[in-house]
This record gives sequence, C-alpha cells and structure tokens, in this order.
Amino acid sequence: MACLLCENNYGMSLCECSYLMCRECINNLEFPKCPHCQSILSIKLFIAGKMVKSHDNKPNEYTRRFVCKNEYRELNIGNLTSPKGGDLEIKDEDIIDYDDFINIDQELHIQQITPTTAITGPYIILNDTCAFNHGYWQPSDYLHVEPISDIVNKRNHEAINNCDVFVLELNYDYDCYRSIAEWGIASALGKTLIILFPDENKDEPQSSEFYMFAAESIKTLDTLSFTKKEAIFTSHPIFNITYKEYVKRLQNIISKKQHN
Ligand SMILES: [Zn+2]
Ligand SMILES: [Zn+2]
Repeated sequence: MACLLCENNYGMSLCECSYLMCRECINNLEFPKCPHCQSILSIKLFIAGKMVKSHDNKPNEYTRRFVCKNEYRELNIGNLTSPKGGDLEIKDEDIIDYDDFINIDQELHIQQITPTTAITGPYIILNDTCAFNHGYWQPSDYLHVEPISDIVNKRNHEAINNCDVFVLELNYDYDCYRSIAEWGIASALGKTLIILFPDENKDEPQSSEFYMFAAESIKTLDTLSFTKKEAIFTSHPIFNITYKEYVKRLQNIISKKQHN
C-alpha cells in the first residue's frame, strides 16, 4: 500500500477513487486535489462536545469555529490571537460574521485546518464584551444562545450534514447532552462516527455506558478501506492514536459492559 507518487512511504486515501499518497507528497502538491480523480483532498470533520468545559477552559481552533459581530471583529481577533487571550492561530477570514450566521439562507464556508482536514462545525459565538485574560475563558465570554437556539441547532444540523466524520468528544463530567443528541443526527445521516473518552488511562465507570456508541462507531468504520481509516486518524490533531489502537480501546469498553 505504498504511495503511488513516490513509492517510498505508506499511502493514505483521501478521496473517492482511493488513490494512495503519503503525507509528504500531499503537502508537495500544487493544489490539494487528487491527481487521479481531481477531487479535493480533505476530510471534513464535525467535532461535537461541551462548549464550556470545566476541565480545559480554552476553545481550540482545530475543533471550534468562531462567530462574532462585525463591529467587534478587530477587537475579538486581537483577543483570540494574543498570548494573554486565546492564543489561537486563526485566520481573519475564518471568523464568521454574526449577521451571516443568523441569516440561515447565507451559506457558510468550510474551514480548512490542515492541507487534508477541514471542520464544518460546531460554532462558538463570542460575546461582545469577551475578555479572556491570560487564556482563561469564562461562560460570560460566550454569547447566551438560548434566544437564537433554533438558529444554532439549524446551523449545527447543516454542519453535521456537511461533514464526513462526526466526532463525539466526551467531557470529564459526561454531561455534554446536546452533543450526545447530535450523535443521533449524524447516525441518521449515515456519517462515519467516532467517540473519544476524556481519559484513556483512567477506568471511568461511565465510559462503559457508551458501549452501544462504541459498537456503532466500529460498524461505521468497518465500511471504509484501511487506508481511508488511517487517513482519518492521522488527519486531525484531536486523534493521538492510530485506527487500530482506537478500535482496541472501544472493544475494551464494550467488554467491560459485558462483564458488569
Ligand atoms: Zn509519497
Ligand atoms: Zn482520487
């Protein structure tokens, strides 16, 4: 399964035609397009999980998209990128205008993260007066979204529809209920499903309650080629495991449930 361009490395498949290329050759392409079928070489992810976490209080530009009002744009970009603020590496054009966000007829672009990875959602809506000092974010830095909850839900539904891979990142308290509901949306849409647990080294009793999610995830991955699965797990910084290690971990969770 060598790279078809250099034949010196393992290849990954990122497109429908399953043309195999290594990361180095992908990075050297003039355009991130498959030389064979010409499709865009990008795995699109939606990363569901708690917006405001008690454990890790900083949102990350690899898992969240940012929305803010135009009049606060410059101020907020300064805050997001400054070392004392968010310290995020985010491009100006990737921040979505709040007016575009709430206008449901307006199509939102998909945010490219790496040459081979993009995220479709979810979105963080910044409060006008957000002031995350020293990288510490508080609930008041986020807009209270209840008044526009139908729009937020529609936008997330749309972003789930646009993704190839839906990732549920469980938090320490296992109380990301909306994200767990979104799994059902992604499942109904036939997406590849991945579940990530908060601490791989700790034996959380709650994790085995997700054994049906684990089983479903393995089923959706089983339909893909090995090179595609490898490509997914090497595509995004959120995965620090290989496909094989991931499946092993899930099988462990499933077997714990069976022995309870
Ligand atoms: Zn190569
Ligand atoms: Zn191709």
